[in-house]
Amino acid sequence: MAKMYYEKDCDLSYLKGKKIAIIGYGSQGHAHALNLKDSGCDVCVGLREGSKNWANAEKAGLQVKTVEDAAKWGDIVMMLINDEVQADVYKNSIAPYLTEGKALAFAHGFNIRYQQIVPPAGVDVFMAAPKGPGHTVRSTYVAGKGVPCLVAVEQDATGHAYQIALAYIAGIGGARAGVMETTFQDETETDLFGEQVVLCGGLVELMRCGFETLVEAGYEPENAYFECIHEVKLIVDLINKGGVAAMNYSISDTAEFGEYVSGSRILPYEETKARMKAVLSDIQDGTFAGRWIAENKSMGRTFFNSKRQQLKKHQMEIVGGELRKNMIWGGDSDLDTASN
Ligand code: NAD
Ligand code: MG
Repeated sequence: MAKMYYEKDCDLSYLKGKKIAIIGYGSQGHAHALNLKDSGCDVCVGLREGSKNWANAEKAGLQVKTVEDAAKWGDIVMMLINDEVQADVYKNSIAPYLTEGKALAFAHGFNIRYQQIVPPAGVDVFMAAPKGPGHTVRSTYVAGKGVPCLVAVEQDATGHAYQIALAYIAGIGGARAGVMETTFQDETETDLFGEQVVLCGGLVELMRCGFETLVEAGYEPENAYFECIHEVKLIVDLINKGGVAAMNYSISDTAEFGEYVSGSRILPYEETKARMKAVLSDIQDGTFAGRWIAENKSMGRTFFNSKRQQLKKHQMEIVGGELRKNMIWGGDSDLDTASN
């Protein structure tokens, strides 16, 4: 059983007198910076000169510095820029200022697990990884709740790395929901696995396949969108609330019977599991990480960008966009997908 921590196990006084530099002001960055500030911490945001986020962060009442100045200023330096640019930014703008006794923090273990960043021995290295999108980390905090987090310590130079990590997580509201102890290795591997086979890769392919099957059979694309895409959230909300039992309670017995009869037909267990194991072993032996690093470095993101463009033009995205526009609550205005 994993070790769990809650607010009573976290002592915010471990952040007293410590300056926290949040590098990046995206999904996670804005949430960590604002939550920590509201928790009474001394926070600044580190950004590139000319970043469009500079004014946003200042408007939200945060002090902003260049990445170098923030790294110089901070006792805790939290890396909340894209994983694929972290190694270069670390080398050029952060490492020179990581003096003994400081802490380097992450919300995902990729760069430590695959040795793209190798911090000096004298600093604490910890992870405070919310298990949810940054916008939810902020909205739940404001509502007096929080998003569950993972805590891990890769290097404990000061002897207080765990206490500092737990205090940090309490500061962003995560300890209100629960903090699970893990390692950089386990977090990285399970996170990559989850997003690839179930949450993003698996789910998008499942929805696309369902959508295309209905449309090719002559049904209206709007109908296919509602059935195979829109309803996913309604179903998942029930599972999130009360497990599969709550979903089965809420759907009709006909739907539940269909679940038992057809689920394993479209997702043959042994074959799917063998494929999942192959994906997992690519993650464990570094094959996936190597491919992603190469995609960014030598390939100029050609595969990544062409897939993104292809998806943008897919009928399910176009039909869905039109339908969502006309829903009474409109689109999700805090998600700026146009800039992707
Ligand atoms: P994001 O893409 O939303 O934001 C990244 C920010 O970094 C942006 O403000 C961007 O302008 C800035 N940036 C990019 N390159 C930069 C550079 N060279 N110098 C300075 N700033 C630069 O990223 P995110 O999704 O918040 O992810 C941040 C970290 O949090 C990653 O390690 C990610 O794995 C982790 N994480 C994300 C989520 C999530 O829900 N998004 C959940 C858990 C963990
Ligand atoms: Mg993002």
